[in-house]
Amino acid sequence: MDPLIDNSKREFLLRSAVLCAGSVLGGSRTLFAQQPAAQGSGPYPTEGMAGYSATGPLKVLKFQRRALGPKDVAIRIDYCGVCHSDIHTIHGDWGKIQYPQIVGHELAGEVVAIGTGVSKFDVGSRVGVGTMVDSCRHCPECARGAENYCENGNTQTYGSKDRDGSITQGGYSKFIVVDEDFVLSIPASIDLAEAGPLLCAGVTTYSPLRHWGVAPGKKVAIAGLGGLGHLAVQFATKMGADVTVVTTSPDKVEDARRFGAKDVLINKDGVDFSKYKRAFDFILDTIPYQHDLDRFIPLLKRDATLCRVGVGKLTTPNQYGQMTTVLTRTALAGSNTGGIRETQDMLEFCAAQKIKPQITKIPMGGVNDAWSKVIAKQARYRFVMDMNMNG
Ligand SMILES: [Zn+2]
Ligand SMILES: [Zn+2]
Repeated sequence: MDPLIDNSKREFLLRSAVLCAGSVLGGSRTLFAQQPAAQGSGPYPTEGMAGYSATGPLKVLKFQRRALGPKDVAIRIDYCGVCHSDIHTIHGDWGKIQYPQIVGHELAGEVVAIGTGVSKFDVGSRVGVGTMVDSCRHCPECARGAENYCENGNTQTYGSKDRDGSITQGGYSKFIVVDEDFVLSIPASIDLAEAGPLLCAGVTTYSPLRHWGVAPGKKVAIAGLGGLGHLAVQFATKMGADVTVVTTSPDKVEDARRFGAKDVLINKDGVDFSKYKRAFDFILDTIPYQHDLDRFIPLLKRDATLCRVGVGKLTTPNQYGQMTTVLTRTALAGSNTGGIRETQDMLEFCAAQKIKPQITKIPMGGVNDAWSKVIAKQARYRFVMDMNMNG
């Protein structure tokens, strides 16, 4: 037998054996670090925190991630941000879902194995995954890099039908297998724990700020200072705009200024907004529940836009008056996350401008408590599950 073939065969067997051991042990960095490729490895046993009903607590679910395909990377998840969308999804606010469901779409970790056709990542790469794990790849939206608007519906990181017909399970877990085209590279200067929230909250606010041309000389209002809002303020400020924060929480004024806001408007019933009438070139509305848009739209200059990125219960739609937009030719718009290329651009922008989320790390088991705090508006400003923290 040709000694070369013999050697590569032996090497392959060795690799497979080590990878199996690694997956059972939960992914040892040193074991995996020496393995260059691993097509055919898996499926990988793992576990996560799943919702079992619309109202009950999240509980541990043991399950498997698919075996590596040629273009797949296997990622040991170290951190996952807690997004309000996760809560809305499990509570059924956005429609019926199938339980048990693991949510989480702000995950960051390290590549521990790659398929034979993977070209963008290697074992040891610091990576993240946001809200999508696949899309049709051929519609006009996908062709221009806007997979978030895929005409055939992209595959969301959780709660979507995957290519094998199963429902995708998200990042409140320790391990995931994702096609490399939907994996982001985390710049070296960004802490992995702080990378996750950029992949949903970050790009969800970055994309509309870019789309509506936020730049020096523009006056921008950010409505809502939560997980999305606190990043939006930093983005708009670093893009050169003059930023005002609109918040219902007086105790967030100091924070708003620290993130870059020049002005803060406390949004309470009866508060007079007339000083801000026709003041803004753009309003980014991050509030994740129904509220009175007639309070905000008149604050726009003529022809300016208010864009919503927060979404509340679908059964309680937002309404605005018949005259509100007519009087000043203003526009009410929405925006949904960003494409993969744009998400990578956003990460580079964060690295260059030193933008980062303010996070509180929690153990996996602390997620139910964290959800209660998010609902009570007590998050400052993003809870991040640390999969290696005990508790
Ligand atoms: Zn999210
Ligand atoms: Zn598409």
